[in-house]
Amino acid sequence: MPQQDELAPRTARRLAGALERWFKDAQRDLPWRAPVRSLRERGYRALVAEAMLQQTQVVRVAERFVRFIERFPSVETLAQADEQEVLAEWQGLGYYRRARNLHAAARMIVKEYGGAVPREVDELRTLPGVGPYTAGAIASIAYGVRTPLVDGNVQRVAARLIAIDASLDSPELRRASWSLAGSIVEVTEAPGVLNQALMELGSTVCTPRSPKCGRCPVASWCRARQAGVVDSIPRPKSRTPKESVHAASVVVHRRGRIVLARRPSSGLWSNMWEAPGLEQEEPAGAPEVRRLLESKYGLQEASLQERGDFVHHTSHRTLIFSVWSAESPRGRLRFGEWVAASSLSSYPISNAHRRALQIGLGPLAKRFLTASG
Ligand code: SF4
Repeated sequence: MPQQDELAPRTARRLAGALERWFKDAQRDLPWRAPVRSLRERGYRALVAEAMLQQTQVVRVAERFVRFIERFPSVETLAQADEQEVLAEWQGLGYYRRARNLHAAARMIVKEYGGAVPREVDELRTLPGVGPYTAGAIASIAYGVRTPLVDGNVQRVAARLIAIDASLDSPELRRASWSLAGSIVEVTEAPGVLNQALMELGSTVCTPRSPKCGRCPVASWCRARQAGVVDSIPRPKSRTPKESVHAASVVVHRRGRIVLARRPSSGLWSNMWEAPGLEQEEPAGAPEVRRLLESKYGLQEASLQERGDFVHHTSHRTLIFSVWSAESPRGRLRFGEWVAASSLSSYPISNAHRRALQIGLGPLAKRFLTASG
């Protein structure tokens, strides 16, 4: 194997063959891999699966994929849906921007591509939320187009195969990974299978810690293994410190109903719903929480209680939640809605705000949150 990231055609053919043979037996049974009746269906399922798989574990996506497809069985049904319905169906998967992009992509596909997910990488790249990886995945896996793809798993496998001493977020490793993936996909008859095999290898065998080199189909070509440096390759990403934000969340309830308010239309969890809250640099005390309820919501509470706290991490921020409850406040609600337990499931609520509701409701949580599913 040459020192560079591009493989000699003979080595590339051997690697591709070994990966494809291995994948036939080792692939996991995942719902988006199930056979379908038409290419149109295959394209749509690939689009949904790839949107869900960005930043979410395979096991979690496997639980949710079938339900989403049952709810929105085609590009058209997804395009026609209201954004709130799509967000509600996405609950629990996090990173809601993906759901908004998927919804916008479905609308664009109906308008500009006659309802069929495009086949070519350049066309796929015009869809909201579809980057080089996702375009490569849909084109190759759904349509068999000869095009490479690189995700975090492929980067790790590539880094170890060529023993490149670079960090995961370095342009050097990205370039080398695309080049290596490109030279393998160039020589295969089944680009979709090969691409899935590379990702599956990274996900199940060439794992970040303790890779199972003894079971690896490409171990004999692996330079990191030969050099005994598997554990130090690739170097971890250089971390930038996250911003910390204090979030107060007040669960206001009266006779089986709670107050929910819609978040702003931009920023984190945009257009989703939450209990009345504040986000600021400093922790909020009882006087501030009372002021919030009175000035924004028109409510004067009689029994404000601090219920607990927790920390929630997003990709860029650490949110330190303090959770409060207020029972039977006086006044007419000026902002938000009184929501009955039975209709909670139709409101998209982030995992963090769902947890705040759970803490704030205490023993009542079962009644409210069971109804939300
Ligand atoms: Fe990864 Fe080990 Fe296989 Fe190399 S031999 S690709 S380090 S699993």
